[in-house]
Amino acid sequence: MMSATLLIPILLGWIAGLFINYLSDVLPRTRRFSQPACPQCQASFSWMDYLTLRACRNCGRSRNLRTWLVQILTVAAFVYFWLFPSTALGIPLGMIVLIYFGIITVIDLEHRLILHPTSLAGAILGLIVGIYIHSRADGLWLGAGKSLLGGLFGFGVMFLLYQVGALVTRLRARKMEAASQADDEEEALGGGDVYLAGVLGLMLGWPFIWNALLLGVLLGGLISFLFVVALLLRRRYMSEALMTFIPYGPYFILSAFYFLFL
Ligand SMILES: [Zn+2]
Repeated sequence: MMSATLLIPILLGWIAGLFINYLSDVLPRTRRFSQPACPQCQASFSWMDYLTLRACRNCGRSRNLRTWLVQILTVAAFVYFWLFPSTALGIPLGMIVLIYFGIITVIDLEHRLILHPTSLAGAILGLIVGIYIHSRADGLWLGAGKSLLGGLFGFGVMFLLYQVGALVTRLRARKMEAASQADDEEEALGGGDVYLAGVLGLMLGWPFIWNALLLGVLLGGLISFLFVVALLLRRRYMSEALMTFIPYGPYFILSAFYFLFL
C-alpha cells in the first residue's frame, strides 16, 4: 500500500523535473515557451523526443548531465516532501515552490542570470505563499501585510547592497571593463538578486525574510571566503580573487528552502 501511493510523488516529480528542464532550456535562450532545441547543434527536438529524453537525432549528442540530475533530484525531493511535508506549505504548494526554486537555481547556476519573467511569476507565487503562511495566524489582511512588508524589506536591503556594490565597481571601473563578465543586460544591471530577494521576502514575510537574507549572505560569504583562500593558496593575486563575481541567488534559494521546508 505504502509503495503503491509512492508512485504518485514519483510520477509527479518526474513530470516536474521535465518542466524544470524545459524552462531552464528555453527561457534563457528565447524568453518564451518555445520549441526546445539541441544545445549542441541547435536542431529542434520533437516534443516526443524531448520529453522521453532521447538523444539529438541530428548530431547524436545525448542529453546533458544536468537534465538527468534535475530529473533524479526532483523525484527524490517530491518523494521526501510527500512523506515529510513542509509544515508551512503543505504538499501541493510545497511542490509548486520546489519547481520554482528548481527553475531559478538551474538558470542562475548555468547563466548567472535571474530572468525578469521568472521574477514576475515569482512575485505572484510569493504573494500567494506569503498570504497562505501568514493568514493562518494573523488573518487575511494582516497576513497579506506581513507578506508585502517582507517583500519590500528583501527588495530594499538588496537594492541598497547593490548600490554599494555599484559604487565599489565604479571605483575599479577600468579593471571591470577588462574582465567584464556580463553576458546579458539583466546580469549587467545586477538586479536579478534584488528581485529574487523581493520574491523570497513575499514568500517568507516579515520578519522571517530577515533571517533568510542573513543566512544567505553568511553562506555566500563563507563559500566566497573559502574560494579566496583557495586562490591565495594557489598564489594567485588577491585582486583576481576580489574580482570574482559572487552570485547570491543560489544561497538565498538555499536559505529560503531551509526556512520553508526544514
Ligand atoms: Zn544536436
